[in-house]
Amino acid sequence: MIKPYLRSFKPYPPGKPVEELRRELGIEGPIIKLASNENPFGPPKKALEALSKAAETLNRYPDPSAYELRRALAQKFGVKESEVVVGNGSNEVLDLLVKACLGPGEEALMSDPSFLMYEKFVTAAGGKIKKIPLKNGKHDLEGYLSLVSEKTRLIFLDHPHNPTGSILTHEVFLAWHRKLPEGVVVVLDEAYGEFINDPARVRPLLFKGERPPVVLLRTFSKAYGLAGLRIGYGIMEEELASVLNAIRQPFNVNTLAQEAARAALEDENYLRFVLEKTWEERKRLTRAFQEMGLKPFPSQANFILVDLGREARPVYEALLRRGVIVRSMEAYGFPTCLRVSIGTPQENTIFLEKLQEVLGGL
Ligand SMILES: *Cc1c(COP(=O)(O)O)cnc(C)c1O
Repeated sequence: MIKPYLRSFKPYPPGKPVEELRRELGIEGPIIKLASNENPFGPPKKALEALSKAAETLNRYPDPSAYELRRALAQKFGVKESEVVVGNGSNEVLDLLVKACLGPGEEALMSDPSFLMYEKFVTAAGGKIKKIPLKNGKHDLEGYLSLVSEKTRLIFLDHPHNPTGSILTHEVFLAWHRKLPEGVVVVLDEAYGEFINDPARVRPLLFKGERPPVVLLRTFSKAYGLAGLRIGYGIMEEELASVLNAIRQPFNVNTLAQEAARAALEDENYLRFVLEKTWEERKRLTRAFQEMGLKPFPSQANFILVDLGREARPVYEALLRRGVIVRSMEAYGFPTCLRVSIGTPQENTIFLEKLQEVLGGL
């Protein structure tokens, strides 16, 4: 009954939910979740206002073309509306890209480790994923080139990379892009793109019209604080966008998500606040880790991968018992590391105190 290549599938392992931890360990005090790279500052006020207004129209189907939102995004990025595809999270746009570009027996490339969903979507489409180990915590672009074949259809690069937070420079990406064959599509997954503040970063929109095409993916789940609504988008050449729009469900993005996202885009003060706080706290946490003798990976995202120089699992568990949820990284091949999302200043202070306590006690 079931396709053989789906038999080994396991559900995506999300960060531990707060209520689950409360039940399992009987914790009564506050619980801090720094495990899923969510925005700790709450949703933008303007989005909340738009939500209550939009709620009055919920007897109607959503706008199937999400026209106003796509127009706002097109304006923001200086592209055409016909080059923007919105989805139920950027995850849906990823899935649509795989459906549109890759058939059974064809291949896609990703780093190892990287975002697990790339592999799932490719495998579910009957394709094959090939993995290139990271090199010094970064995408090994030369390694990618050595695995490109005539079967390769998609190349995934999370940028910043999850879980290291590393980025690619424009110069390096440009030189690499020139060596790629026609017939592949490069997907730059910038779920954390807003958090980059290194000016040397690759600028994906400068590849507009170039071959092979570079698709930019972004989301409202992280910097815009709307993870619970499920909305993300891709910017890509018109021809590809029109195929994605043709194969998706007609009402893939609900009314509330469309309206809240549009309001969030207008709430520039919110985004500025989130980014400034994240940058400050990223510096502070990085320095604090170094002062504790730990090795943080330099991050351009809203999380930090930190090498404890010892098995990380007991530290992860001891933090859980103290009401702090971070992410252990064995499954990603970093058994001595934790990935910590950057929380509010107050959450980060508590986390650092508990970490110090745990490391001192083990
Ligand atoms: C969080 C994340 C996403 C975002 O997915 P949404 O479906 O937009 O919530 C995409 N890619 C990576 C690498 C992520 O970590």
